[in-house]
Amino acid sequence: GGGRWTLLDEEVRTRARRALRLVADLREALARGGVEVHYQPVVQPGRPARLRSVEALCRWTHPELGPVRPDVFIELAERANLVPALDAHVLQVACHDLAAWRAAQAAGDLPVSPDHVAVNVSAVSLAADGFAAGVRRAVATAGLQLSDLCLEVTETALASDLRACRQVLEELRADGVRVAIDDFGTGYSSLAYLKDLPVDHLKVDRSFVRDLRSTTGPARAVAAAVVSLARTLGLGVVAEGVETFEQDAVITDLGCEAVQGYLYSRPLTRQGLVEVLRGGG
Ligand code: C2E
Ligand code: CA
Ligand code: CA
Ligand code: CA
Repeated sequence: GGGRWTLLDEEVRTRARRALRLVADLREALARGGVEVHYQPVVQPGRPARLRSVEALCRWTHPELGPVRPDVFIELAERANLVPALDAHVLQVACHDLAAWRAAQAAGDLPVSPDHVAVNVSAVSLAADGFAAGVRRAVATAGLQLSDLCLEVTETALASDLRACRQVLEELRADGVRVAIDDFGTGYSSLAYLKDLPVDHLKVDRSFVRDLRSTTGPARAVAAAVVSLARTLGLGVVAEGVETFEQDAVITDLGCEAVQGYLYSRPLTRQGLVEVLRGGG
């Protein structure tokens, strides 16, 4: 009845207001450096597991609402065209931090440091004018090389503006940037164009890893297919979202050379990661 509609209407309006408010707050947080970067170790499995690299993941704590999940605020940021600024911020911080860990290692203050840092790049960032220049600037400002950086892009990003994206990635990759396809297997069936893409690694999506069991099953078949596809194409494979010993055993068995997940480490603050590095990675 009429009352119900009014209620729904009210609810929609409240939600829209809340979204607008969040966007404004996010814009301000970005301007003030209030968006933080956490780092999740990517390891080479084994005993002991060895740290290879870290993935930079953005974190935002709203002054009143508390922590807001990245997938929530990134969707908002996408609609408000804030994603290029967000990605650029994370990139700069990540380069700065990697350079600091390297310097600490060189000074003998840390026994190890990550081989490289991976940052997530949205399709809109990749397609924006000046993206490649921004990457070069961030890397140079930190005193790093392009080979210290991996860009994680999704299949959807690549499919949305394939030509432009491919060109940018090719150009950066020629100068050493690594490129990973994130959430592999969840987007467009990209097998046809995969062979032509400027890509170094595939990241097996968490949804496939989650259902991995020692016994054969569909999830295992998918993971096995991704690993063997990567092999055939000469690409590396990283499994994300490894939470249990069983998943770890299966994925390692399949020949996956790098894993990332709560079993090894949750995303850590900069200081938290330093403690891991202090312990030898
Ligand atoms: P993603 O790139 O697939 O990142 C992996 C997500 O899985 C992260 O969620 C991470 O915390 C989570 N994760 C890692 N290991 C495990 C595990 O063992 N179990 C479970 N349940 N989860 C695990 P997070 O940090 O919430 O990020 C969500 C997504 O937001 C990311 O997914 C990425 O697509 C996006 N994102 C994060 N930071 C950035 C950024 O700086 N720029 C852009 N454009 N996107 C970002
Ligand atoms: Ca990622
Ligand atoms: Ca992923
Ligand atoms: Ca994801």
